[in-house]
Order: sequence, then C-alpha cells, then structure tokens
Amino acid sequence: NEAKKHKNAVAYHDIYLTEEAKKRQNLVYDLRQAIDDKQIDIVFQPQYRLSSGELTGLEVLARWTHDQYGNIPPSVFIPLAEEQHFCEDLTALVLEKAAKQLNESQLLGNMVKRVSVNISAVEFNSVDAIARIDTYLQANPEFARYLCLEITETAALDDIIECARVVDTLKRHGVTFSIDDFGVGYTSLGIFNRINVDEIKIDRSFIQAMEKDHRAKAITAGIIGIAKGLGIHVVAEGIETRAQLALLKQLDCEYAQGFYLGHPAPLEQLAIVQSV
Ligand code: C2E
Ligand code: MG
Ligand code: MG
Ligand code: MG
Repeated sequence: NEAKKHKNAVAYHDIYLTEEAKKRQNLVYDLRQAIDDKQIDIVFQPQYRLSSGELTGLEVLARWTHDQYGNIPPSVFIPLAEEQHFCEDLTALVLEKAAKQLNESQLLGNMVKRVSVNISAVEFNSVDAIARIDTYLQANPEFARYLCLEITETAALDDIIECARVVDTLKRHGVTFSIDDFGVGYTSLGIFNRINVDEIKIDRSFIQAMEKDHRAKAITAGIIGIAKGLGIHVVAEGIETRAQLALLKQLDCEYAQGFYLGHPAPLEQLAIVQSV
C-alpha cells in the first residue's frame, strides 16, 4: 500500500512536470516571438546624486507583457533568455528602443547624462555577443558616450583576464562599466585591480538590512569607502524608505536609486523629478 501510494505520487509528479515543461516550452517560443516582434518594452528608473539631489541617470529595465499571462517579470524571462541564448537580440532591442526614446524626448545630454543598460553574464562571456555590442557602439558613438553597461560579479568570475580585455575594448567607444548587485557574489576585491570599472552598485539586500543589521551597515559603509578610495562611482540600489536615504547620506554614499526616489516607468509617464 505504501509502495502504491508512492508510485501514485511519482506519477502525479510526472504529469505535473510535463505540464510545467509544456508551459515553459510555450513561454520560450513566445519570448522568441516577442523579441522578434519588438514587443519587449522598456522602463526607466531614475538615479540621483545624494549630495545635491539632482537627477544623474536612468537605468533601463526590460518589461514583457504576455498576451495570456500578463506581466512576466525579468526574474522569469531573463533566465529563459540566457538559457536560450536570446540575450544578444534582447540587448540589441533594449539599446535600440532606449536610444530612440531618449533622443525623441530630447532628455539625452540635457537632464539625462547617463543611461545604464544591463548585460547578462552569459552574454558578456560570449565572443559573438561582445562583437555585436562593439559594432553597435561603433555605429552609435553619440549614444555610446552616455552608456553605462551593468554587469554582475558572475560575468567577471569566469575569466577575469578576458573580462578585463573586453571591458577595455568596449570602453574605447566611450561607454562606462558598472558592477551590479555588488556584494552578493563571491568576487574578491582583487577584481578592482584587474578590471577597469567605473561604478559599483551596492546590492539592495544590504541597503534594506542596514537599519536593523549593523553588519549590513558596516558592509555598506565599507563598499562606499572602497569606491571612494578607488575613485569610482558608488550607487546604492533599492532605497525604499526615508530612513535608508538618511543613513546613506550619513555614510556619504554618492548616488542612489530605489522606489522611494522613483519607480521604473515608461519614459512618457516618468515624472522625472529633477532633484530629490
Ligand atoms: P537590476 O539590474 O539589479 O535592476 C534593479 C531591479 O530592482 C529592478 O527589477 C527594479 O525594478 C528593482 N528595484 C528598483 N528599486 C527598487 C526598490 O526600491 N525595491 C525593490 N524591492 N526593488 C527595486 P526588475 O526590473 O524586475 O529587474 C530585475 C533584474 O532583471 C535586474 O536587476 C536585471 O538583473 C535583470 N534585467 C532587467 N532588465 C534587463 C535587461 O534589459 N537585460 C538584462 N540582461 N537583464 C535585465
Ligand atoms: Mg542593473
Ligand atoms: Mg542590481
Ligand atoms: Mg539584479
């Protein structure tokens, strides 16, 4: 009886997996279609300089509204895109839309001096994908000089020498580089000796824990100190409260981004607050 129960459980599990697998397969297909049809949208989240409160830049974030399932978050479709090697095309689309919208709004170079775009680790470690970004930057020099490419620690981990080379190559076009979600990975601080980064973004887990957790606060303060010492920008991610903002100012954090300062939104809806 016990064995039978177990067998049923396994059988049920198989059906469940099959359904999940089917749904996933459809999602992959739909994602490919959405990228090809340029149905992936972008939103922009503002970044501010804390000392003056002025707007300094915008981060571009991809959005996918599925006909059937509605809004599918990047935490779902970005891993799918990575696994299916769709990231190259996704990045091309994100860059194209961001450049077009920012140029039309005439914000670029006026209110907006920096545009940050996320590059996935999978893409960053692909020779073909990098060649394509290189070609794009070469063809769009006036946009390139406003661009900041955000990579994660994992992108650098695979082959730090190759990563350093890619960063230097792309920087010739005027782009800058940021290490996103800094502090959650396993990177050693030696990364700063090897890779010529311009910015680090402190992961929001530290920012959100820092009021109650003295370790998170010490880590945040330490990252800010390292960035200052290296002469690179430091951005705090995920500020949700006035108290977090006050604490970051107290720690002399240079830049900040988060729901408290501004939610990601389509450019035409983005009530760009020039200063906070
Ligand atoms: P990320 O690059 O670290 O982007 C910041 C994420 O935090 C965004 O989530 C943003 O909406 C969210 N966020 C901003 N402020 C707050 C806050 O105060 N509180 C909280 N809880 N969250 C906040 P989103 O848009 O869901 O994107 C998640 C991740 O997906 C991004 O993390 C990035 O790694 C990836 N992603 C998004 N768009 C793209 C893209 O175009 N290409 C690639 N390769 N990855 C992307
Ligand atoms: Mg980012
Ligand atoms: Mg981040
Ligand atoms: Mg992230």
